[in-house]
Amino acid sequence: MRHSSRGTLFIVSAPSGAGKTSLLKRLKEELSGVVISVSHTTRSKRPGEVDGKDYFFVSHEEFETLLSQDAFLEYARVFDNYYGTSRQQVLENLEKGLDVILEIDWQGARQVRVKIPDSRSIFILPPSLKVLEKRLRSRAQDSEETIARRMRDARNEMSHFHEYDYLVVNDEFEHALSDLKCILIADRLRMERQQWQLENVLEDLLG
Ligand code: 5GP
Repeated sequence: MRHSSRGTLFIVSAPSGAGKTSLLKRLKEELSGVVISVSHTTRSKRPGEVDGKDYFFVSHEEFETLLSQDAFLEYARVFDNYYGTSRQQVLENLEKGLDVILEIDWQGARQVRVKIPDSRSIFILPPSLKVLEKRLRSRAQDSEETIARRMRDARNEMSHFHEYDYLVVNDEFEHALSDLKCILIADRLRMERQQWQLENVLEDLLG
């Protein structure tokens, strides 16, 4: 897919329990010009989740229809449910010059890298297995079996870390947040983007 957008597409993946969602929420609050893409999913809504904000919650049939209409930039089956990123939403925001963040798994990341080669990908890791397990346990009253499955899923997701451009460890939340900010800010300072952003300044300076 050809694309001549002005914003950058960032892919962010992490095992559940790495703190990805909280980090991205703060990043969006602290850095302007950032949009976090809202995915479609067939999984059921968790308490506190809002349709259209956390996800677009759809039935299997609705998901299949969107798929047949080629509405997704990428999609994947994750833990028995389907998840997909709306192509239109993402491309429109990139054209506006906004940085778009996709919170997707490694399977989706692979598809996006092929379709949008100038995207950047970031993997967030927990500092240790022990901390990851502690975070997973503190989330809900899950059974031992569920915890063990979540740990297995997390290790599987983490085994793909080397496919990414950037690696951030979320040990100290504020530190990891600052790392993420640095990645986005450095990308905004690239010559290609600056030449577009600073068109008037450059015209004034150099005519
Ligand atoms: P959860 O159901 O816990 O919100 O998300 C489960 C997993 O699905 C996470 O690894 C998350 O990154 C991934 N995910 C969420 N949305 C998408 C999407 O649109 N595409 C893909 N490929 N993965 C997604």
